[in-house]
Formats: sequence, C-alpha cells, structure tokens
Amino acid sequence: MYEGIIQDLIDELGRLPGIGPKSAQRITFHIVQSERVDVNRLVEVLRLVKEKVKFCSQCFNVAEEEECKICRDPRRDPSVICVVEESKDVVAIEKTREFRGKYHVLGGAISPIDGVGPDQLKIRELLTRLADERITEVIIATDPNLEGEATATYLARTMKPLGIKVSRLASGLPVGGDLEYADEVTLGRAFEGRRAIDL
Ligand SMILES: [Zn+2]
Repeated sequence: MYEGIIQDLIDELGRLPGIGPKSAQRITFHIVQSERVDVNRLVEVLRLVKEKVKFCSQCFNVAEEEECKICRDPRRDPSVICVVEESKDVVAIEKTREFRGKYHVLGGAISPIDGVGPDQLKIRELLTRLADERITEVIIATDPNLEGEATATYLARTMKPLGIKVSRLASGLPVGGDLEYADEVTLGRAFEGRRAIDL
C-alpha cells in the first residue's frame, strides 16, 4: 500500500480489464517516471475517446461520426452482413481481407450467468436491419466458445422464418477462445469454409 495519489492510480488501473495488481503498480511507476508531455498526451487521448467516440447508428461498431467507416464505404456489399460480438472482432476480420460486406456488432454474447440475454444485445436492431435492407446472407461470427455458440444458435433460430441464408464460420478456430486470438490465415479460412447452420 502506497500513499494517497499513487495508491489511487494503482486502484484505478487495477479496475481495467486484464490488468492485475502487479501490472497496475508497474504502470503507475512508469507514469510517475514519465515526462509530463507524454502523460499529458495520454490524458488528452483518454478525454477525447470519451468525447468523440460513439457507436455507429447502423451497425454499432465504434465510430467518430453518425456512421462508422465501413457503413459509409460505398464499395462494401450491403447484401451480406457479418454478425460479431465486439468491435475488436470487426478489426480481426478486416485483417483477413476475406470479407467485403457489412457488419453488425451485438455488444456481447448471450450469457445467463452474467445476466446477458437477447434483450441486452443489439439483436432487435439486427432484425430491423434485416427487414429494412436488402440483405441476402448473414454470417454469424460470434466467438467459438459456449456463449458464442449459444448466441449463434439463438440468432439462427430467430432468423430462420425470414428466409435469409444464415451461415456460421467453419470450425478450425481455437475452441473456447476469442475470435481476435485466431491468426489471420485461420480466420480467413474459417470465412471461406463457412457453412449453413443446421437446426
Ligand atoms: Zn457501421
């Protein structure tokens, strides 16, 4: 335990995902020893991210304008939508260069233990898009773990009556993991090998 402000910073950093007490302490002392100009840059970018970044009104990806960069891009195929859990999954899929359609970011996955049901995700908004836009295929790219599979099954059931082609990324992705941890080649292959969901 340290004196006042130092301990406050360790506590704040320790609240961030993936940062344990030791990392929080290491980052705190790094900041204490850093140049003031470097720390100010960090403070400024933290302030700006809360001020400027919002969620795309169409797909709920992070955006600095009303719509995200992908939704605004006229070269993207509007007839195919790839459904992912988080914005970081959009980045992972973009890196593969296998997909030229648009996205829909759910904001998580169905997880009864964590109190996350379909209503907490952007599923209603997805169904609205399917009703309004000319969409012929939906590719479900939720994480290859329990919650991701449950979400994929729920979505496939919900969309079945709409007569839209619904597919799921091929197996070969590391089971139990996050989509973002798959390397680009594996993820690219999973895209090519996507298959219809059997219900
Ligand atoms: Zn968007």
